Amino acid sequence: MNISIVGAGMVGSSIAYASMIKGIVNEINLVDINKELAEGQAMDLKHGNPYTRPIVINGGGYDLVTGSDIVIVTAGKPQKPGETRLQLLESNASIMANIVSEVMKRNKDTILLIVSNPVDVLTWVAWKKSGLPRDRVFGSGTTLDTARLRQNIAQHCKLDPRSVHAYVLGEHGDSEIASWSTANIGGTPIKSYCKECKKEDCPGQIALKEIFESTKKAAYQIIQKKGSTCFGIGLAVSRILEVIAGNQHSVLTVSTVHNKFDKMINIPFSVPSVVGSRGIERILPLNISEEEHDKLVNSAEIIEKAINKIKNSI
Ligand code: NAD
Repeated sequence: MNISIVGAGMVGSSIAYASMIKGIVNEINLVDINKELAEGQAMDLKHGNPYTRPIVINGGGYDLVTGSDIVIVTAGKPQKPGETRLQLLESNASIMANIVSEVMKRNKDTILLIVSNPVDVLTWVAWKKSGLPRDRVFGSGTTLDTARLRQNIAQHCKLDPRSVHAYVLGEHGDSEIASWSTANIGGTPIKSYCKECKKEDCPGQIALKEIFESTKKAAYQIIQKKGSTCFGIGLAVSRILEVIAGNQHSVLTVSTVHNKFDKMINIPFSVPSVVGSRGIERILPLNISEEEHDKLVNSAEIIEKAINKIKNSI
């Protein structure tokens, strides 16, 4: 599989590094408005080639995206400490519109995978600007938040995070929700697991609330401490790429512009979706509680309001 990454900064280079180590791509093209940076990152990555499956790595301008199966967009301003993702909206929406038209001039049959923030709104911009079908334009959505939630539950309960099945839905941002009504540990609903668990000093279900609060705050804390987040998202996106490369039909909480949920039409947000080599194959039915459903509608409304702010300027 041939991929291009537009935006060769912290996130773009981490996606390239993780994908290279996992051996899931044959060619990585790094594109950045700062061509020197793209070239430097490509040179640095290439020197790891003798230690991985051999791949072609290039750095440079937009012509590199021609022929890529997937174009991943990580370009744009990152969050500053204390800044919300939605505060990046205006600057990153026009950057996204410009990038998508550059990509479409050179590659009309690609999958667009959006990572730049605010990721849901920018997924809408990419969908509108590209003219691609909605199943071929999607955002990394809450894949990272879902990983954070699973990891935090696993750490608290002393479990392997791969045995924790819990999803974060809605906006990749402050209005996201944890789907506790569907969360389970090895098939046992999390609420029953909690009742029977004899862990000392655990406040039971209050712990779940605290775990989700710390999941939501994670990016703010990391940005405060180290300036940006990159390793978690690098691995989350490389997992999406692995699923597409291997046509794995895996369930991921990517963000796509929906057209099947009442009150949430043409709005992108994350719900469990089946992903394969052609992009999004199916959106799973929502079997969440009424309260969670109301929160999901609220999250979609927040994304819609943000879209309305920029829709006439792109
Ligand atoms: P960064 O500043 O390290 O990298 C951004 C890169 O984009 C820079 O190299 C810059 O030169 C490039 N760029 C800017 N405008 C461009 C254009 N028009 N064309 C090509 N390249 C352009 O920032 P980062 O830490 O890598 O973050 C990138 C984005 O990813 C941010 O929007 C950040 O909020 C987002 N992010 C998303 C998630 C997620 O879960 N979706 C997680 C972490 C970060």
